[in-house]
Amino acid sequence: MTISNMFTIVLPVYRESKIITEVIKKVCYHAEKTDMDYELLIVDDGSDDKTWEKIKGESELNVVLRGIRLSRNFGKEAAICAGLEHARGAAVIVIDADLQHPPELIPEMVRLWKDGGFEIVNAVKKTRGDEGKFYHFAAKTFYRVFRGLTGQRIEGETDYKLLDRKVIEAWSGMTEKSVFFRGMISWLGFRSTNIPMQVGQRLEGKSKWPFVRLTRLAINAITAFTSFPLHFVTIIGLVFFGGSVLLGIHTLYMKLTNQAVEGF
Ligand code: UDP
Ligand code: MG
Repeated sequence: MTISNMFTIVLPVYRESKIITEVIKKVCYHAEKTDMDYELLIVDDGSDDKTWEKIKGESELNVVLRGIRLSRNFGKEAAICAGLEHARGAAVIVIDADLQHPPELIPEMVRLWKDGGFEIVNAVKKTRGDEGKFYHFAAKTFYRVFRGLTGQRIEGETDYKLLDRKVIEAWSGMTEKSVFFRGMISWLGFRSTNIPMQVGQRLEGKSKWPFVRLTRLAINAITAFTSFPLHFVTIIGLVFFGGSVLLGIHTLYMKLTNQAVEGF
């Protein structure tokens, strides 16, 4: 069921009990500035701290707030999927729950969608936030490989996006099990625009993406978009096959002409 004069804000959260109350307040403050109704849909990605209790408490005080809770921690991409599935608005904004994605942009995103006729509004990083040299290098390499293999330019894009209902419908039609939100939305097409954003500091705590998990996401992202890795295996197989045939011929020739090493 879609409610036409309403947009939904989807907030995936995992172990954010210390900041969730403040984040709800800030996000609502900026969402109020549009001339539309909105709902705030918080997806608790199986937090094992007090996050869910906090969400329940807040939703008793705030009518625009709805919470859903995943049965365990599935990762941010899955939490976003659940949010999109349950959203009722004519557009959805996906935003991180640590204020690294400035909620100040919400009114402008809504305006670009409503008055500008854009179906996707991407908040794009002007500069990457505070991150180490190695992480910076790894991210750059990932985007380069992703672009080389899939032809899609998503560098600087974040998960902070507004999506029109049409986009969500197209998204729901895809039955992918491993999801790379940014890449898939970009692949869908639609009329889109970018607005620049400055990545803020995390309000509290640290990123919940350990390197191993990010690497897994990067590999999933690439293998979901291109069969090149599979072809690569085939090519390697052919090269080794060719090599063994040549070596076999050489070995037989040496043996038959009595040139092989003694005891061969
Ligand atoms: N998050 C989530 N599930 C996870 C990890 C993170 O829903 O398994 C949420 C987290 O609460 C935050 C957002 O995803 O709202 C981005 O996470 P984080 O700030 O840790 O990542 P980064 O900013 O480093 O991309
Ligand atoms: Mg963050």
